[in-house]
Amino acid sequence: MNIIEEIKKYFTYLNELGIDFFPISEKLNKFLKNNNYLSVNNIEKIKESLLACKKCALHRIRKQPIWGEGSEDAQLMIISEYPDRDEDFYGRPFVGANEEILKKMLSAIKLKKEDFFITHAVKCKTPGGRPPEIDEILACKYYLLNQIKLLKPKLILAFGFTPPKMFFENSSTFSSIRGNHIKIKDSVVLFTYHPNYIIKNPIVKRLIWEDLQKFRKLYEENFL
Ligand code: SF4
Repeated sequence: MNIIEEIKKYFTYLNELGIDFFPISEKLNKFLKNNNYLSVNNIEKIKESLLACKKCALHRIRKQPIWGEGSEDAQLMIISEYPDRDEDFYGRPFVGANEEILKKMLSAIKLKKEDFFITHAVKCKTPGGRPPEIDEILACKYYLLNQIKLLKPKLILAFGFTPPKMFFENSSTFSSIRGNHIKIKDSVVLFTYHPNYIIKNPIVKRLIWEDLQKFRKLYEENFL
């Protein structure tokens, strides 16, 4: 057995659980950091672990977990809820009618889909499209938080009920947070309805429009 490799794997495991400091000697911490054993600052590594992820039961029915789409240098991010059947099939967020609605919404505030890195809060589809359970949301939190940490978007537009549950672990309701922007780490996140809500419930169109105007204002404050 290669002891160094085993130790490396163990520290990587702890690091994936969110532990990035070990109360041991400064010298050892420095050694580990220099050897990159503690580093999760590696997008490829997180993508790899996402593709193999079996942290919750959703892995059994997905075709594939979805990392996201768009430039990883984009300063804007969209967080959708969880993949639907078509997204699971094609392996990318926003396909078909939802993609068209999204494009229209963004063009109304003079932005394009390509200006964003687009991802989901929960990375695998759910049975029959039901909302993810809280244990599934929390199991998947690691990936989104690391995407935010590594891609460092300045502004995030978060759609639907799942992102608030993930960020606030069920302590905030969507209605109390919708239309508000909140600083999470170095990013400002604005919460609004998912675009496909317009199809199911046209009455929310006006509320989404108001939220998009707020997002445009934040964009102008940060980038223009
Ligand atoms: S939903 Fe997230 S935590 Fe669950 S299996 Fe898929 S990638 Fe892993």
